[in-house]
Amino acid sequence: MAKVSDKLTQAIDLSDQRTVLVRIKGEDSPGVSSQIFEALSAPDVVVLDVEQLVVRGELLLNVLVTAGANEGAMMARVTEVGRNLGFKVSCRAGLGDNRPKPRNRLAVSILGNPVRPIAVSEVAGAISAAGANIDRVRRVSRWPVTTFELEVSGGDSDQLRREVAIKAAQYRVDIAVSPLGLARRGRRLLVMDVDSTLITGEVIEMLAAHAGVEAQVRDVTERAMRGELDFAESLHERVATLKGLPVSVLDEVRETIVLTPGARTVCRTLRSLGYSIALVSGGFQEIIEPIAADLGVHRVRANQLEVVDGHLTGRVRGPVIDRAAKATALREFAAAEDLPLSRTIAIGDGANDLDMLSAAGLGVAFNAKPMVRRQAKASVNVPFLDSVLYMLGISREEIEELEREHLDVEHERESALASTTRSAEPDREVVRSANI
Ligand SMILES: [Mg+2]
Repeated sequence: MAKVSDKLTQAIDLSDQRTVLVRIKGEDSPGVSSQIFEALSAPDVVVLDVEQLVVRGELLLNVLVTAGANEGAMMARVTEVGRNLGFKVSCRAGLGDNRPKPRNRLAVSILGNPVRPIAVSEVAGAISAAGANIDRVRRVSRWPVTTFELEVSGGDSDQLRREVAIKAAQYRVDIAVSPLGLARRGRRLLVMDVDSTLITGEVIEMLAAHAGVEAQVRDVTERAMRGELDFAESLHERVATLKGLPVSVLDEVRETIVLTPGARTVCRTLRSLGYSIALVSGGFQEIIEPIAADLGVHRVRANQLEVVDGHLTGRVRGPVIDRAAKATALREFAAAEDLPLSRTIAIGDGANDLDMLSAAGLGVAFNAKPMVRRQAKASVNVPFLDSVLYMLGISREEIEELEREHLDVEHERESALASTTRSAEPDREVVRSANI
């Protein structure tokens, strides 16, 4: 074991090693990298680091290599090849690989529509003031919001979170700060509120419209959402107004529900990554279950309406799902999935979501009331639920790639069904895969 460890130490200790940093700038064209690396080739030259990016067709390539026995010849060779290709080339000889060993690595996601230079400047300033360094920046999305992800290391994470939250509010961008590294990869649990988060509007108000008590119920709901009323009391008060409604009203209301834009994309994308998805709602199980089934949601916890002789009694069955119960559900679902809370994401808009949002690894206030927004770790203030995916580092391109795959599967399914019209039984395998 000791020998292996010695070898590893030797492999990473380059402090006395002569190295050359090669920087290439210019208009990108096919085959550039191949020719540059060919020019660097020598038997004793080793590639230590490479960073390349292209913005609007302009390429910037940084390569760090060991100097080898004849660094002058190598630098002359790569400079000539680069210039012949129309690039600006610089070669700087030095010692070692001084890329700092990153610690306290965080992803700072900036979302905005639009993102102004001053917002980036102020957030970068806040990061620097917290003693942290920006190691890398990449664009995650340009539509429907612009998102930049800053990889940050060092400094005081708590101070950084506080400072960037202040800048976010000041410069009208949304910001999420999440730990980088393995914690960000792999399976996680997403728990979403339903009313005004997964769906537009509040179901109880739709039910109330059928009972002709909409204004009365909306007033109680708004007071509860602002935290002025105890949620359980307000729920009982609102449900009581529904007494006597035929149970068929639940189907009628369900038909009118509109998903928040991006809701289906969130579920499809995260399911494809192996995430577990749960809905936790102060609304009603009877309405939510079919929506959850349609979206492939794995778990649901919500209030249950009591029905006797085909009519709502104006009471709920079982325990009330209030602010505390929502956080409990998050914890229980995480435990059932064998996931630590650091691997949970919660999204909600109301005061009764606050405990759940603060218990989750990443709690996102979605178009929330100011009081909720102030207390949540992150907020999204554009009406697109899939913006949350950007905060997880999932790019628009990756989402669109998955959407295309899904459309291809749908298309295959339609073709397969069309070609099996003569058969008494459709191709079950194709139908099943289309429902993934
Ligand atoms: Mg809500």
